Amino acid sequence: MDFLDMQELLTELLNLENVKVNHYQNCGSQIILEIERESTSSICPRCGETSQSVHQNHWHMARDLKISDKDTVLKYNRRQFKCKLCKKPFSEVLNFIGERKQYTERFAEYVIKQLMHSNIHNVAKNNGITDDLVKSMLEYLRKKMEIQPE
Ligand SMILES: [Zn+2]
Repeated sequence: MDFLDMQELLTELLNLENVKVNHYQNCGSQIILEIERESTSSICPRCGETSQSVHQNHWHMARDLKISDKDTVLKYNRRQFKCKLCKKPFSEVLNFIGERKQYTERFAEYVIKQLMHSNIHNVAKNNGITDDLVKSMLEYLRKKMEIQPE
């Protein structure tokens, strides 16, 4: 399997909309996937102009759902574009992670579901994260449900 096929396969397995996997690293108990939005442009939130001019790359790490029972971390790029009309930089929107940086939307939902049969401390321990992170996920999902009740 050549590298391009591998990238396509990983991208399909990751199953995050409009996101591609650039690089894969297996570090024993942890898998690190380097990802980026597929699109090379982003829309300026101030004026609506489409920008293709990347001003800066900003790399962050976020926990995601396990792969083959290994903790999975996404190394993701939240690119900063520069709008040619406003002349100001802006950050692209990443739907799978929202404004947060440390975990994906679906990982937060997965962790919080476990609270139904357990408590914060045990859920944190079972997922290899801190109590505070579980609390922040709880708070985040609670706020989100208030904004858009389903
Ligand atoms: Zn603009």
